[in-house]
Amino acid sequence: MEKIQNVQLNNSRLRSDIEELAAIGRDPRGGISRPSFSKADLEAREWLKAKIKDSGLNVRQDGAGNIFGRMEGEGKTIMAGSHIDTVFNGGKYDGSIGVLSALECLRRIHEENIPVKRPLEVAAFTDEEGNLVGDFLGSRAFLGLLDKNLLEKEITQFGTPLVEVLERTEFTIDSIMEAYKDRPELEAYLEIHIEQGTVLETEDKPIGIVDRIAGKRHRLCSFLGKASHSGTTPFELRHDAFLGLADFALKCTRYTASEHYGSLVTIGKVFVFPGAFSIIPEKADFSLDFRSISAETLEEMDKHFLTLADDIASTRGLEFRSAVVDKTDPVETAPRIVTLLEELCSEMEFPYQKMASGAGHDAQILASASDAGMIFIPCTDGISHAPDEKIQWEHLEKGAALLFQALLRLAS
Ligand SMILES: [Zn+2]
Repeated sequence: MEKIQNVQLNNSRLRSDIEELAAIGRDPRGGISRPSFSKADLEAREWLKAKIKDSGLNVRQDGAGNIFGRMEGEGKTIMAGSHIDTVFNGGKYDGSIGVLSALECLRRIHEENIPVKRPLEVAAFTDEEGNLVGDFLGSRAFLGLLDKNLLEKEITQFGTPLVEVLERTEFTIDSIMEAYKDRPELEAYLEIHIEQGTVLETEDKPIGIVDRIAGKRHRLCSFLGKASHSGTTPFELRHDAFLGLADFALKCTRYTASEHYGSLVTIGKVFVFPGAFSIIPEKADFSLDFRSISAETLEEMDKHFLTLADDIASTRGLEFRSAVVDKTDPVETAPRIVTLLEELCSEMEFPYQKMASGAGHDAQILASASDAGMIFIPCTDGISHAPDEKIQWEHLEKGAALLFQALLRLAS
């Protein structure tokens, strides 16, 4: 059995890096708004590249704006990272701790001249949060998994097409599509991230070792009915699109909770037309987000939801329309990485919990081309994607130390 490396990370430097990055893109509402290719994100990118350079690593950037810091070696690359973009008014730990902990690990290896065999890279992937065109733009581009049509068609959260957003950057749709061409062969990818749930807090464990990551489907749906006067149309003559949606929302939730407990469905965005006191809604547009760690369950949920919606539509004299706009498959992380992290936790005497990730991560995308693994640390009350996102530093110190040892084992 190899020994735990005696070298410690510079935790105060890691902490100050996280604080420095958190100062870029402050939102007046209290959080951080640093969506990819916003002004704040462009500033953060320059900051990160300078940090990588100052650490003595080689900076590399691909056509999708993914940023890498590399230490040369032999054979396939061992990579660790996450993302530095945020949702609008998000928190300061989601993503950033993954990139900056990995940077700190590589920096210490470089400073201490620790002999490693394989090349090592820290990675920051573009638009993990999906503010541009669907989640994981950067990691999908990195693996050549993007649909050019989608890049050209979809409207970003900035309210404009991607092409217009790209005008303020050095990237183009073509450069994004070709980003995968200069990627190194990967041996393993590791990511440390906040849990974004309450499992670790409840179990009082500082470390989560992720063995599965849930997949998701996003559908855009509409019930179409007929507008008429709210004061003169009796109930039996109505084609109320909103009631179709209300009925559907309750039934799909009840079905998921009773048949697939642990899987989740959410209707997070609703528009009712024409939207007036005195008019029966003729149209209800809504988003349907459903997630599961089982591919079969996702498929079953999808089928059931469509049947359910069609039944409701025919009972209520409505029409139902729906299209899938985004999907990721559930994945298992690499068993050899789960085992490695478990062994290291035992050696380092860190209490840990094996667990599934309900949220999606770049690691899920990377898992198709590499052995992927994830380390979770608790976040207070499970809050994320909000200004109140908080962690305890001792948890991050443990998580980063675990990442450090795992990288050394994988690269030696
Ligand atoms: Zn994240």
